[in-house]
Amino acid sequence: MDCLICGEKDFKPYYYPPTLFNKKSFGYSECCHCYSAQISPLPDEGDMKLMYGSEDHSYLLALKENEKLIFNKVYPKYNHQGFQLLFFRKYNYSQYGKTLLDIGCGSGFYMNHAKSLGFTCYGIEFDAAFAALLREKTDLDIFSVEELEKLFKDVLKFDVIHLGHVLEHSIAPVHFLLGLKKYAHPDTIFIIDGPLEKNKCLSRFFIKWGSILQSKKSNSYPPQHITFTNSHSQLLFFQKAGLKKINYKITEQMFPFPTKLKEEPFKNKLLFILGRISVNLSKIVRGSGNIFHYAGHFK
Ligand SMILES: [Zn+2]
Repeated sequence: MDCLICGEKDFKPYYYPPTLFNKKSFGYSECCHCYSAQISPLPDEGDMKLMYGSEDHSYLLALKENEKLIFNKVYPKYNHQGFQLLFFRKYNYSQYGKTLLDIGCGSGFYMNHAKSLGFTCYGIEFDAAFAALLREKTDLDIFSVEELEKLFKDVLKFDVIHLGHVLEHSIAPVHFLLGLKKYAHPDTIFIIDGPLEKNKCLSRFFIKWGSILQSKKSNSYPPQHITFTNSHSQLLFFQKAGLKKINYKITEQMFPFPTKLKEEPFKNKLLFILGRISVNLSKIVRGSGNIFHYAGHFK
């Protein structure tokens, strides 16, 4: 097996218990070179079908027939979606042009925000039925890859291409990223947000030791995340893919810790306080955090 982040071949076992899904056991290994972790075996097409699609987004199915999805005006403090919008404004990505393609756009919250800033936006979701449901519920231009390419023939060039928490779901992330170059012109900026599930920060330290002390034999969540990076390996991945850095920022979200204190049981109140301490510590400890924001181009 090759490391999907750095390309090297040496691995050692990682502490994550295997997850049992679709009658298979998915284990985790750590790369001896870049210290990323990855899943093995990689999920196949059948596993992917079972993991994704409309069923994975129950908030849409819960809407009534003519009801539209309402986007949050304000996100909880230290929320990964809130961070994505914050960085979009902070780094003034409007300066790179006004057309945006959002890959794996999910609810369309990022497109909705970019639209309010004057962007023309298109979104891709990989399951055509899910894309159709999103179109209906959001009135945003969200399509499957095939639909979008048919709609535009070969004039698909965007000023900004965004991937928000998408790459870690790919079984071939370099190939996937390079495949998006066909939607880019020479000056296109790639904005990529995602988790750093193997990075150092206080909250991850507690999660790791909590898990080790529980000594669970296995889990049963869908193996949606394929790769688990740290601040160095994530940057190395972009370099190896040929991207040149414009911005790279590590920060910390509260998830998986609770985001609010009120009306929570005592255990969650403690976790909330722990999460807040960790978030604030990451503000002063360089490289500490559990999410990244990257912008770069292939020039
Ligand atoms: Zn590696």
